[in-house]
Amino acid sequence: MPHFAAGVIRFQNEVYPQKKELFEKLSKGQAPEALFITCSDSRIETAMITQTDPGELFICRNAGNIVPPHMTHTGGMTASIEFAVAALQVPHIVICGHTECGAMKGAMNPDSLDSLPHVKEWLGYSKAAVAIVDAMSLEGEEQRMQLLLEQNVMLQLQHLKTHPSVAARLAKGDLRLHGWVYDIRTGDVKAYNEAQDRFESVDVHYAKEVAALAHSSNCAA
Ligand SMILES: [Zn+2]
Repeated sequence: MPHFAAGVIRFQNEVYPQKKELFEKLSKGQAPEALFITCSDSRIETAMITQTDPGELFICRNAGNIVPPHMTHTGGMTASIEFAVAALQVPHIVICGHTECGAMKGAMNPDSLDSLPHVKEWLGYSKAAVAIVDAMSLEGEEQRMQLLLEQNVMLQLQHLKTHPSVAARLAKGDLRLHGWVYDIRTGDVKAYNEAQDRFESVDVHYAKEVAALAHSSNCAA
C-alpha cells in the first residue's frame, strides 16, 4: 500500500474526528484569505509553512510558480485566478517561489530542456527574469539563482496585474499582492518590499502588523 493511501486511513481515523466541526463548517462554503500561487515542487508544504487550516488558502501550483500574462484564450491559471479574485473575492494574493527550484534551474539553462518541450515552452514565461539576471553579470551560480528566484516572483506579480479581475480589484484598493521566496533548507521566507525594491524577512516585512496583532491580543487579555 502506498504511504499516501495509508495516510488517508490514518486521516479518517485520527485527524478528521479532531477537526470534525471545521470540516462540517467548510462543507457549507469557502472564504479563503488568499490565493496562494506556488511551485508544484513536493518539498513545499503550504499548510505547514503558513500554519493554515483547510479553507484558508485557495492554492494554484505549477512548475515555477508562473502566472502567464492575461490572454484571450483560457488556461487553468487564468480561470483559477478569475474565480479566486472575482468570485471568492480573496483579499490577498501570494506568489511564492522557492530555493532549489528545478523549474528555475531549467529556465536558466534552456538547452537542458530539449527533451521536455512543454516544460521548455512553459518556462518561456520566465524569460524576462532570466534576461535581467544575465544583464547583471553576477559571478557565482548561487547568487545568480537567488536573483532569478526573486526576479521570477516579481515578474509573475507583473503578469498577475494584466488579469482583468486583478486589475479591477487593485484599482478599487481592496486586493493586496505579496511576493515571497521560501528557503527549503532553512525555512526562511523572504517577502518583496516594493517601496524599497528588495526582499526582506517576513518578520521585518510584516513587523507593523505583527505588533498591531500583539497589541490587540494584549488589550483583549
Ligand atoms: Zn520549483
